[in-house]
Amino acid sequence: MNPLSQLPSVDRLLSDPAVVSLTELHGRAVVTQLVRAAVADAREAARAGLPLPDAASLIATVGAGATALATPKLRPVFNLTGTVLHTNLGRAPLPEEAIAAMAAAARSPCALEYDIETGGRGDRDDIVNELLCELTGAEAATVVNNNAAAVFLLLNTLALKKEVVVSRGELIEIGGAFRVPDIMKRAGAKLVEVGTTNRTHLKDFSEATTPRTAMLMKIHASNYAIQGFTHAVPEDELAALAHEQGLPFVIDLGSGTLTDLERWGLPHEPTPRENIAAGADLVSFSGDKLLGGPQAGLLVGSKDLIARIKKNPLKRALRVGKITLAALEAVLRLYRDPDRLNERLTALQQLTRPEFQMQAAAERLLPALQNALDSLPVNVEIVPLLSQIGSGSLPVDRLPSSGFAIRPQGKKSGVLNRIEAALRGLPRPVIGRIDNGALLLDLRCLAAAEEAEFAANLAGFLCS
Ligand SMILES: *Cc1c(COP(=O)(O)O)cnc(C)c1O
Repeated sequence: MNPLSQLPSVDRLLSDPAVVSLTELHGRAVVTQLVRAAVADAREAARAGLPLPDAASLIATVGAGATALATPKLRPVFNLTGTVLHTNLGRAPLPEEAIAAMAAAARSPCALEYDIETGGRGDRDDIVNELLCELTGAEAATVVNNNAAAVFLLLNTLALKKEVVVSRGELIEIGGAFRVPDIMKRAGAKLVEVGTTNRTHLKDFSEATTPRTAMLMKIHASNYAIQGFTHAVPEDELAALAHEQGLPFVIDLGSGTLTDLERWGLPHEPTPRENIAAGADLVSFSGDKLLGGPQAGLLVGSKDLIARIKKNPLKRALRVGKITLAALEAVLRLYRDPDRLNERLTALQQLTRPEFQMQAAAERLLPALQNALDSLPVNVEIVPLLSQIGSGSLPVDRLPSSGFAIRPQGKKSGVLNRIEAALRGLPRPVIGRIDNGALLLDLRCLAAAEEAEFAANLAGFLCS
């Protein structure tokens, strides 16, 4: 007898009660396709001499396939990397106020570009213009997709076919593809580098300005530090020089917080308000770095320059949608009450969390982790750790934290990579970091309210 005749038919499998309930969950089209694929694979394998799977194992394959298809690609993870504003993990987690505002804007029509008072057409930037001006001291503001877009748009508007003077020490690359010289070129501006890597003086700038100069520009050294024998020209001196020559002085600030971080015991990070007060005519910064909001690029500055930028047809191509504006407005509102900002703004709350809280969490969660790693040749201990802010904010500063170090017993270092992969394979992936022979799990970004979920998630841990 042909062994393939033992293989259950597609129709028989589809009428199996277990498959019927999969169909109710995932839909007929998806399940039928998975059943056909499972039967075809089994037939292929049998032809190659492998044993035929029984109906139960075919159904298990279909169930696993359906679950995999139903799992979103963009899914929540536990960020235990120790980097709070982790670009690859979505940067700032949003506060509940912003989440509620996004849901409301997504659900219903909203006054995105509609003036409720007059019934006429409105401007989407007006949703946050007033707040941004109030919080930065600028005259006007506009919002685009991210800070890279903001820099691109300002260069393309103000410096097309003209020269932009920048210190050599500031020609930065931000992780991935954002390099200042490349953005300049694409925006149609000509970069004029002045000074040296470590030292730039006012006269370097004044000697470089010509009738073709469009602006003097400062780019904040957000992801590196130059130390030792260094000199950068203070912002107010650059502003004065630019204004003497009738030029704008523009700052790409990168990460822009709108509050004084020192008040929370964090190192000082320059703010757009300080830039504007020092005489900058235009400042660009990100919405999802230290500001703690959604991905966006914010431009604040003089009425005249912002108006020119908004008239550039590329503004339309780079603008943000209603969901971003809803979140941004809600986050900016929180800054009106700076006293409670560290309780209400999730990113700041995580950045200012005292070490003892992470240590207490580690003590509560140690049994669950030990239980998961029980059969593996590793030791787990609670250790002090140093978190970083991330996303190019305050690159050299570290925040005292606490968490777990998992170390192999003996010389079996391969086991750490297997555990790291198994943690990533959990229903809610756990992302740690391997450093110096240990797998480290920093608990700073695990909220107290998520601890039960974290422990339950670990129950699914499977490491071969
Ligand atoms: C992060 C950063 C950018 C890019 O901002 P995105 O919001 O990632 O587009 C540009 N310039 C500086 C100085 C930065 O730190």
